[in-house]
Amino acid sequence: MTNLADRLIPDFDLSARNTLALRARSRFGLLVDGPDLLPELFEHATAQGLPVRILGGGSNVVLAPNFDGITALLATFGRKIAGETADHTLIEVASGETWHDLVVWTIEQGSGGIENLALIPGTVGAAPVQNIGAYGAELADVFHTLTAFDRQSGSIVTFDRTACAFAYRDSVFKQQPDRYVVLTVRLALPKAWQPNLGFAGLSELADAADLSPRTVMDRVIALRTSKLPDWRLTPNAGSFFQNPIVPHEAAAPILAEFPAAPNYPQANDRTKLSAGWLIEQSGLKGFRMGPVGISERHALVVVNHGGAEQADVAALADHVKDTVLNRFGIALHEEPIFL
Ligand SMILES: Cc1cc2nc3c(=O)[nH]c(=O)nc-3n(C[C@H](O)[C@H](O)[C@H](O)COP(=O)(O)OP(=O)(O)OC[C@H]3O[C@@H](n4cnc5c(N)ncnc54)[C@H](O)[C@@H]3O)c2cc1C
Repeated sequence: MTNLADRLIPDFDLSARNTLALRARSRFGLLVDGPDLLPELFEHATAQGLPVRILGGGSNVVLAPNFDGITALLATFGRKIAGETADHTLIEVASGETWHDLVVWTIEQGSGGIENLALIPGTVGAAPVQNIGAYGAELADVFHTLTAFDRQSGSIVTFDRTACAFAYRDSVFKQQPDRYVVLTVRLALPKAWQPNLGFAGLSELADAADLSPRTVMDRVIALRTSKLPDWRLTPNAGSFFQNPIVPHEAAAPILAEFPAAPNYPQANDRTKLSAGWLIEQSGLKGFRMGPVGISERHALVVVNHGGAEQADVAALADHVKDTVLNRFGIALHEEPIFL
């Protein structure tokens, strides 16, 4: 067996491993091709005084230009039908698998349930971290269990849905970022498929003669492609700000001024507003600041026009937050993680 130190890649270039294409290097990189490597990795890092961070597909991060530690990339693969219950098919997937490939594969296996989450970039292991969601669905809807390496105890632990503490773009893994490495994810896909067509753009499929998980997936792909800039051509990290969930009284003046503003009533006298709408109404769609800017196609998307670093993105994000706060009194929060 090779010594861990021999597997560390020095001065690891991550510029092509983050969808914002930020200039980013790490003192060391490591491809983690199996869970057995993790205890050795963390022992080595502790002994050398090096921090470790986990990276999947780099589609939800704003990377620092120089990380003085080890960046561990999950490169574990495999997916299988792991069993069934009376109502569900259980699918087990390794962290390094690509999320969208999983969506396509489940449909090929004859299972629906995650078609609304098609084309979300990144890995399966990162999906629980922010409880990925789109088109009226989220991972938590079909989540069964996951296994993770616990850096604190040095053991592999199993999480059920409650233990994950899923919320809107949130989970225990996001709350405790340096503790767990997600290894495998199990989904419970319903045997009796029910289409989820409540979201704008999908409802007209309800009367389609050929309605199936595949037709819904195809529609989601078409909608996403028409709305979002392709990160391969225009580097970006998807939605850059979370939709703010605010008390009714904070939303009321906005809705009085703009009765058509998107708003979604929530529990506990709160209202979800659209961050993209707030940014667009603040006049920032297409705004540029140095090498970064707000997409001309979608006000929620920060794009790298070329040569940007983390500080450029942070400065733009601060400008957007200040502008929206001054105009509407609403505080926005970034969705990607600054690593
Ligand atoms: C064009 C575009 C569109 C997007 N659309 C959506 C969308 O519709 N809905 C949505 O929810 N998100 C969306 N995103 C965000 C992103 O795709 C998801 O958050 C995705 O789950 C990130 O996966 P990743 O592998 O790239 O994670 P990374 O960006 O590599 O990492 C994200 C975080 O997860 C941690 N992490 C990664 N892997 C593991 C692991 N195995 N164990 C523990 N922690 C881990 C990292 O340390 C980091 O903190 C979009 C992004 C882009 C670029």
